[in-house]
Amino acid sequence: MSTPHIGVLALQGDVREHRAVLEGQGARTSAVRRPEELTGLDGLVLPGGESTTIAKLARRWGLLDPLRDAVRGGLPAYGSCAGMILLADRLLDAPADQETIGGLDVTVRRNAFGRQVDSFESEVEVAGVAGGPVHAVFIRAPWVEQAGDGVEVLGRVSGGPADGRIVAVRQGSVVATSFHPELTGDTRLHRFFVELVRQPGGRRRADGASDGVIEESST
Ligand code: GLN
Repeated sequence: MSTPHIGVLALQGDVREHRAVLEGQGARTSAVRRPEELTGLDGLVLPGGESTTIAKLARRWGLLDPLRDAVRGGLPAYGSCAGMILLADRLLDAPADQETIGGLDVTVRRNAFGRQVDSFESEVEVAGVAGGPVHAVFIRAPWVEQAGDGVEVLGRVSGGPADGRIVAVRQGSVVATSFHPELTGDTRLHRFFVELVRQPGGRRRADGASDGVIEESST
């Protein structure tokens, strides 16, 4: 696959920034607002923004179930911040009726750093991303409170009151970060995702999880 086609969910949030970085990494991108715009994609990015709004709009536009089917069907997906929340199977500190796409066997706490500080920047070592720590921008960010057995922890906060908190994870072809690499000019996480999409069989879940397993853990 020379030029992968990556869709960016474009209901709300920093869509333009993600598209620009992905295109800089050799991907073709398009905005996803309608179910039919998922057809033919090699990968999907869920941007930062406000997860409650994105989830409501996705429900209203008939996109939520098609997005669930796409991610469970093995479409590689990367979510930053609100995108991480949307990919989580379980949420904490969320409205009781907040829906997610799911696909990541994790419990994510919304606005988790808020008790200490709303927004901050830090250096995060990310497994699989060479060249030193990633400069990470956290904006009312979530963290991963608990990760299932099939989930690989790629990065944790180092130092400060949130020391050790999980902020980057991968489960097969689904990747999520609490922070926003699309805002920093550091393109390595997008390159990591574009490479993952390019891998032969990139659409298949590397952990071999079946739909049944995902369904069980999301209840
Ligand atoms: N706090 C937001 C939410 O819950 C996420 C913030 C972000 O994406 N920068 O959706």
